[in-house]
Amino acid sequence: MAAIMAALYLHIPFCLSKCHYCSFSSSAGGQELYAPYVAALILELTRLAEVKSEITDNPGLDSLFVGGGTPTCLPRELLQGVIHSSLDLFGTAPGAEISVEANPGTVDAWYLEALLEVGVNRLSLGVQSFDNRELELVGRVHNKKGACLAIKAARAAGFDNINLDLMYGLPGQNRDSWRKTLEKGLSFLPEHLSLYQLTIEPDTPFHTLLENNTLSLPAEEEIILMDEITNELCSSAGLHQYETSNYAREGSECRHNINYWQNADYLAAGASAVSCMLGVRERRIADPVEYISRINRQESVVIEKESLSVEDSFRETVIMGLRMVQGVARTALYERYALELEDYYGSTLEKLLALGFLELTETHLRITSKGWPLSNQIMAELV
Ligand code: SF4
Repeated sequence: MAAIMAALYLHIPFCLSKCHYCSFSSSAGGQELYAPYVAALILELTRLAEVKSEITDNPGLDSLFVGGGTPTCLPRELLQGVIHSSLDLFGTAPGAEISVEANPGTVDAWYLEALLEVGVNRLSLGVQSFDNRELELVGRVHNKKGACLAIKAARAAGFDNINLDLMYGLPGQNRDSWRKTLEKGLSFLPEHLSLYQLTIEPDTPFHTLLENNTLSLPAEEEIILMDEITNELCSSAGLHQYETSNYAREGSECRHNINYWQNADYLAAGASAVSCMLGVRERRIADPVEYISRINRQESVVIEKESLSVEDSFRETVIMGLRMVQGVARTALYERYALELEDYYGSTLEKLLALGFLELTETHLRITSKGWPLSNQIMAELV
């Protein structure tokens, strides 16, 4: 048996309403599905725990991440139940990170205390903006006051590891409103910030508006200024950037996400959830009704299975690792694949190093500050 990192992702595919930019697998409403969905999820977890015990001797989860959707749409007893079952079935390694994504407007002190009670030790709040007009334009259900109340309630309940998700590049946003949003977020002294630039995804209301030329987005130069504001404010607040979109206080980097960026194994359960174990990636059916029905019929919920070759997995690990500021660890890469970066990429790597876009230190391959603005093109050369 192999001792492998044990990370588990659970997907809750429900939201109070659908945001205009969102392409995640989630739908608004469906309250009648909450209880049967959680029951099905626990059944899938039970089966998964049996399989896992056959392939690894890992003593327990290093991280559990409950995401969505909006997990905190669920009544608190249901969310408690699924977290409790996961921890019971898989156990936890010492210091395990147990994260839940929550949205302002779905949590209060009573709800948050229930999460702490069941072992949750990291809360990720989808705030996105502290500007009421921006929040309304992107279709969020909360306003600035609701966001502030949720953060205060989380602190008062006892959460000492809080992430705030914030977005920039929103319609109607400019450098001043981004500065205000970021300053407001930082005033709560979060341990972690995830700062995402809005991207327009197919099949979203924003995509339709963009096609009709009725979506007004900040210009590229304004985005560059927002990035500068981000670097200035985060570094003076003591949050270092450790990944393209993620900033943390020392020691509060998200363990679950680092595992993902290292392209390490992770288990997953729930509608649309993707797992990757021992070189096999599996995607589950997205429709929650079909998911429930297949689980209850004892049928597989996996609709796509991909076996990665050693070289595919090697390249993925390099690309994902380059998203992190520290880059890809060379020794770990060689121990995992028995492939050397210089031999594998040859002249492509030599060129990127000579241009000063990449840097090869004794321990890591990483993107330089000169290379960061071109990171997508650099990764495209290495993919
Ligand atoms: S709350 Fe999150 S998952 Fe739900 S619709 Fe909005 S962005 Fe998507």
